[in-house]
Amino acid sequence: MIIDTHAHVDMDQFDEDREDTIQRARESGVEYILNVGCDIASSERSIELSEKFDFIYATAGIHPHDVKDIDENTYLALKELHTHPKVIAFGEMGLDFFKNYSPHDIQITHFRKQIELALQLRKPIIVHCRDAKDETIKVLSDYYPKGSQKSGIFHCFSGDLELAEKGLEMGFYISFAGPVTYKKNQELQEIAKVIPPDRLFAETDSPYLSPVPKRGKRNEPANVNHTAQFLADLRGVTIQDLERTMSLNFFELFGVGSEAASGTVSYKIRNSLYLNLTQRCTNSCVFCSRITKPVVQGYNLKLIREPSPRELWESVGDPKRYDEVVFCGFGEPTLRLDAIKEVAKKIKEAGGKTRLNTNGHGNVINKRNILPELKGLIDSVSVSLNADSSEAYDEICVPLPSFRDGIYYKVKEFIAESKKYIPEVQASIVTHQSNVDESRCEEMTKDELGVDWRARRFNMVG
Ligand code: SF4
Repeated sequence: MIIDTHAHVDMDQFDEDREDTIQRARESGVEYILNVGCDIASSERSIELSEKFDFIYATAGIHPHDVKDIDENTYLALKELHTHPKVIAFGEMGLDFFKNYSPHDIQITHFRKQIELALQLRKPIIVHCRDAKDETIKVLSDYYPKGSQKSGIFHCFSGDLELAEKGLEMGFYISFAGPVTYKKNQELQEIAKVIPPDRLFAETDSPYLSPVPKRGKRNEPANVNHTAQFLADLRGVTIQDLERTMSLNFFELFGVGSEAASGTVSYKIRNSLYLNLTQRCTNSCVFCSRITKPVVQGYNLKLIREPSPRELWESVGDPKRYDEVVFCGFGEPTLRLDAIKEVAKKIKEAGGKTRLNTNGHGNVINKRNILPELKGLIDSVSVSLNADSSEAYDEICVPLPSFRDGIYYKVKEFIAESKKYIPEVQASIVTHQSNVDESRCEEMTKDELGVDWRARRFNMVG
């Protein structure tokens, strides 16, 4: 089930077939539609739709095109509209210096006033930004300091990577509409690839901006499926992975839908099955949210207790259904070496493939070389090396004090030793860290350690 986080089904373009359009959305698997108000009249119409259809929610706000005509009475009306239980966000609001239907200074004044009211009412905001990057960042940063959470959505994102990164820092989600599917928008597609899954949305902005293959026709909420499929392909995940993630994002931002249940023993991403062995770890990496928000691709990995080998094995079923079964967790799996060995043996006997995702501390944790014990049980291993020097490793991965004594070199030894016992060995590096030289990492893993490497962007898990 997918969510259209931005539609205007109340507009005239749907006068002839509004109910059929909404029905088509429902039948095509749209779970919720957020119908967005642009002025008082359209906000009222959005509320009417939300009262008529259970799966439609509304926003109320004034589009930057229309702010030249508003006054204090408009704010009183907005305040009243926001008492409705299905009005879950403020907007759309923002700055549009492309069409310039309202003077810039008036747009900025009313952007600020609407944000102030939204904060007073504790509502997330829906931001429209066109050709106004610097001013948008300036205004928003006055209200949403770095580290803010659940601030709102940058709708129909069309900016550059800097705007996306600033938005993420200020607690915004990034929503992509039809234009991301257009061939010429390669820069936008590159940005859509690197938005963390827990901050990503898709929308239609109906009736405008139909995605490929509906481009040129009136847009409607059912078409969000095309944009979502495009985003899933672009990011190398399945549509189910993307839908699950966005549903959870919608719940986290607006409280609508359902929370992902904790205690997940195994979970599927693409066609791999991941086993959630533990939440304990010997590192506290700066980018890791295993304690604060242990969520990966819409799965809540918070464990109430660690699953037994039997529970793990029972959750696998027939391992041949998957490309591979991965021993991981939002923690270090080799803390549970016996469970890995017991379950991996069963998976191999049943004809499955296995992988171990590890921080490479296994030999230090278990006080022996564990790799001969994994021979024949593990087909591939991916080790998080994460840095090009011991100093950078300690800064990024923050090992437990008892592990600090040259643990980086032990991780490299683990990688080199793995090659003797495990057919496929890969090192992964977290990119976009100021203290890591990516080309040095590539050189080191390939030339010195003789293994493949995979760059994993800071903030991208799963
Ligand atoms: S090694 Fe993995 S699980 Fe442990 S803190 Fe780092 S990212 Fe999190």
